[in-house]
Parts: sequence; C-alpha cells; structure tokens
Amino acid sequence: MKRQRPGIGIWLLLIFVIGAVWALNVAYTTPAETITQLNYSTFTSEVQAGHVRQLVVEGHHVYGRLEDGRRFSTYLPTPPSDTTLNDWVRRGIEVRARPEQSGSLFTSILLPLAAVLLLVLLFWYFTRGARGGGDSGTFGFTKSRARILPEAPKTSFKDVAGAEEAKEELGEIVEFLKSPERFHRMGARIPRGVLLVGPPGSGKTHIARAVAGEARVPFITASGSDFVEMFVGVGAARVRDLFETAKKNAPCIIFIDEIDAVGRKRGGGGMGGGNDEREQTLNQLLVEMDGFDKETSVIIMAATNRPDVLDPALLRPGRFDRQVSIDAPDVRGREQILRIHAKGKPLAEDVDLALLARRTPGFVGADLENLLNEAALLAARARRRKITMKDLEEAADRVMMGPAKKSMVITEEDRRITAYHEAGHALATHYLEHADGVHKITITPRGRALGFMMPDRQDVLHWTKKRLLDKIGVALAGRAAEELIFDDVTTGAENDFRQATELARRMITEWGMHPEFGQVAYQERQDAYLGGYEVRHYSEDTARRIDLAVKDLISEQYERVAALLRDRRAERERVAEVLLERETLTAEQFLRVLQGEELEDEEEAADERGATQVIPKAKVRGEPGLGGA
Ligand code: ADP
Ligand code: MG
Ligand code: ZN
Repeated sequence: MKRQRPGIGIWLLLIFVIGAVWALNVAYTTPAETITQLNYSTFTSEVQAGHVRQLVVEGHHVYGRLEDGRRFSTYLPTPPSDTTLNDWVRRGIEVRARPEQSGSLFTSILLPLAAVLLLVLLFWYFTRGARGGGDSGTFGFTKSRARILPEAPKTSFKDVAGAEEAKEELGEIVEFLKSPERFHRMGARIPRGVLLVGPPGSGKTHIARAVAGEARVPFITASGSDFVEMFVGVGAARVRDLFETAKKNAPCIIFIDEIDAVGRKRGGGGMGGGNDEREQTLNQLLVEMDGFDKETSVIIMAATNRPDVLDPALLRPGRFDRQVSIDAPDVRGREQILRIHAKGKPLAEDVDLALLARRTPGFVGADLENLLNEAALLAARARRRKITMKDLEEAADRVMMGPAKKSMVITEEDRRITAYHEAGHALATHYLEHADGVHKITITPRGRALGFMMPDRQDVLHWTKKRLLDKIGVALAGRAAEELIFDDVTTGAENDFRQATELARRMITEWGMHPEFGQVAYQERQDAYLGGYEVRHYSEDTARRIDLAVKDLISEQYERVAALLRDRRAERERVAEVLLERETLTAEQFLRVLQGEELEDEEEAADERGATQVIPKAKVRGEPGLGGA
C-alpha cells in the first residue's frame, strides 16, 4: 500500500485553526498600552502618595491609571472593603466597579469555541467519505491530483521510435479524437478505454502523450497511487472530479498511470481489511467509465506492467477492452530510439549507434535515454568536444551495472580468481555452439559484481532447447574455471547458479523440454482463497522428481563445460593473464588472445588499468556475476 497519509488539506486546516486561536489570544490579551503590575505595598503607597487618578475594581483585581497617565494593575489579598473604597473616593480617586469575570474573555469564551469548531471540522472531514464523498470539497482534499495539459502535448508519433504496431493500433484513437462527429454520425461505438501494457520505461506514458499530441487534444494525467489514500471515499471523490474535469475538456484523453495501484482484483487475499478504500475507488472508476454517454469524446488510457493483477471487471467491454502491448524494443527499435535521443548531442565520428543498439539487448527506451545522457555527462566531465564511442560504452556499463568502482581495494588473489572466473564464462560462450559470442570481458568492479563477461547477445524470440542448455553451461563455467585452477571454490558464483537453476527448472516445468515430464505445465498459482499463497497444482512426488531432475540437468551441463575448459587450459590461462594485466578485453582483443597474439600496449589499455588499487592480501570477496544476463 502506498501513501498512507492523510491529504495535505487536513494539515493545512489544523494549522489554520491553531493559528486563528493563537491570533485571537494575542489580540485579546495584549492591550494597546503597557500595563505595569504593581504589588500590593507599592499600590498602597501610590494611593497614599496621591498618585492614583482612576481605579476599576473587579473583585480581587484592580486596574487603574496614575496621575502621569501610566496604567497599572494589582491583585488585592481581599476584595476591597467599604472602608477602603470610601477612603479611595475621599482621596479624590475616580472609582468604578465591574462585575467579576472568572477568566479573561479569551479563556472563557474563545478557546472553548475554537475547540468545538475544530472538532466539528475534523468530524466533518473524517465522515465525508462515509457519506459518499460529497462534492469536490471546500478545501480541495478530494480534488483529483490530475495534471492537465490544456494545450495538446508537443510529442508526436515521430518522437516514438519502434513500437510500429502500437502506433498503428493507436492511430484509430487519434482519428476519432480528431473528428468525433464523423464516428458518432455512423453510430459507431468507439473504444472507451485503452490499456497500455509493458515493462517500466518502455515508453507507455510517452506514447500516450504522443496520441494526445497527434490528435491535438488536452492530456489529463493522474497516477493510480494518487487515488489511494487512507480515508475511505477520498479516492472515489477524486475519480469523480477527474472525470468531471475531462468532460469539461472533451475531446481529450485521460491517462491513468500505474493503474494497478487502484485496479487490483477485489476481494480475496492481499492485506485483508484495509482494501475498502481501494475497492470504492475502483468501483467509482467503473461507474464513471460506464456513465459516459456515447457522445462524450473522452478516451481513457491507462498504463500498467502488471495486467495480470487487474480486476477482470476493468477489462470488460466498454471499459479497458483494448490492450496495446508496448514491449522492450528490439535491436532496430533501440537504434531508432538512440537516434531520436542523440539529436542535439555532438557525436564523434567513431560513434556507431547500430553497434551500440546491438550490445544493449533488454534496454528499454528510458534506459537508452539515460545511457545517452550519462555519455554526455562523461564527455563533458572530460572536457571533450564530442561524445565518443568509449563514453557510450562506459555509459552502457553504468546504466547496467552501476559506475566502475575504481577506488575499490581488491586483493591480488581476488583479482586472480575473478580473472579466471570470467575467462571461464568467456571461453564457454565462445566455444559452445549455440551460445553467443563474447562482447566484452572485464574485471573492473562495478555495482555488486567484481567483474563480468558481457556476451554479444542477439534478441531471440524462440529459445531452443540447445540454446538454453548452452546458456546454462555458460553460467556454470565461472565456477568450473575456479575449481580447475584453484582446487577450491568461492562464493562468487551465487548469481550464476541462481540463473542456471531458474532456467533448468523452467525448461522442465514450463517449456516441456525434459523427456520424463512431458509437455505438461507444472504450475504454482496464487490462490485467492488462501490469501494469495502459492499453491502447487501437482503432487508431492512430482515436486521431488522435479527437484532431482533440475539437479541432474545442471550437473550434466557442469560436467560438459568443465570438460571443455579442461581441454583448453592454455587458452584459459592466456585470457586470464591478459585480463589481470589489462582489466578489460574487447571482443576483438579476446579473439586475438585466443590465437596467441601479443596485444600491443595501447594507450587505452593503460587508461583502463591502473586506477584500481591492489593490495597483496585477501580481505574482500564479492560476487562476480555472469553480467549482462
Ligand atoms: P513508461 O511510462 O513505460 O514507464 P516512459 O514513457 O516514462 O516509460 O518512458 C521514459 C522515457 O523513455 C521517455 O521520456 C522517453 O523519452 C523514452 N522513451 C521510451 N520509449 C521510447 C520510444 N519508443 N521512443 C523514444 N523515446 C522513448
Ligand atoms: Mg510511465
Ligand atoms: Zn560468474
């Protein structure tokens, strides 16, 4: 649950009330002139000296004015007797009396009044939800937090690279928003809601904005989490307000980001209890979507990366019945995205964006934008005039693994283990028939990894069994190499094992790639009736056999790569030793080392090396990962 805090409105209200009370207090207790407090003795002597001109008696309290005009007050031990009063009168003092008050005006009347007022306001605020939200609210707690771009956004489809299918599907929406009458005249039912589905950063918000830009209509955005508040009813009221705003601005687009925050399946499991607010909000959303008449030209777009958790009611006809998937871009898409965001950035001649796109599989639009920005920062920091390919490569590593830890202290022994480990991955990926080639190997620590081997991956849509087995082999090769050379093993292969095990298990349980288990999906599903626990839909015995089969499959692959590495001892050592010397090897350098060529001592190599401090004794050990996987 996000944002479990009352709206800022309630705090403003409290501050306002407290402030008002304080101001009143000050106004009633601070007179225009200063009043001197006199003690009883001084007061008596002033009276006897004939300095007192006026007196106002209020029980024990006496307020007065001296001959010189100064005001004073005194608290008498007893209320003045008739004798005293007569004495004062006789002395020519002007004496008046006032009924006694139990306290000042402030404490007796205003404070209780303010307290009651505060209680009433609080009560009103907390119960408005239960009464169904009320109107948009005097203090705006229930205003939707929607941001409205009154003019159409400047983004157009030209700014969206790749995603051709999505653009085509959304083209229809653009047509409709441009001239709704044409469609209304035909009595056509226009899609009301479009759900954009895709991983974070893949450009869902971007493309929705482009739709509004193409159609030249206002773009009203809200995030699902804006509607999730602690108080029941606030979210629902905000939804109502959002749709009101949209109707006033029609034709327009409402864009609800992260709709899963409100649109999760109702009932069953979850946190239990506190879902009332969300359910009310979701119900309100459904009501509003149904409530539009045909003539209203408002399109509702929503984005999520978890379509599976959405309440089915949201996906029914007339609601979000269109789904457009925005996938991570393929290599051509990545190149185009890079080109779009490279505009306005001075690139050196050696920059090859197509090559960069090839080495960044899995990067989404946001990553690529980030990559170019990082590269620009690097170039600027180095006071270069143009962004070089090296800046871009470094930026890609940063985006993927975090910045290089050049100042990290590493023992010579750790570097050796890492070098052999990564050399193992590299040889496996190079020599296994169905694995990728090597793109880069490095033992410069970065993020949580002490080094990594980046394969020259291709985008693959169909993973064949042979490919998967080789991938498992490559993952295991790091440990195999360690074992061969050091006669001992380290913790550094943790991630490798996790990856290999996950692949092996899925080959058996999901992809039907193990003869013993056939073409059956052995699934573990979330069970709504058991509070969302994973429930196995196969027998205990099958579970045990799957575990054994996973282990066998992995052992087999481990033996296979261990044998491969044993046969290539000389190459292994050459690669590892060059790595120790240079820290980083490109694909081309790696191939030359395999062939036994000497690498000339380029300037670049010296630049990459050196900065990492090396100390002679073992101390630290991290996790060299397979990297890029
Ligand atoms: P999402 O909403 O899917 O999480 P965004 O739309 O916020 O992702 O994308 C983040 C940024 O990435 C955008 O501002 C945009 O600049 C860039 N981007 C993403 N996809 C693309 C694309 N296909 N073409 C151009 N830029 C893109
Ligand atoms: Mg977004
Ligand atoms: Zn590894």
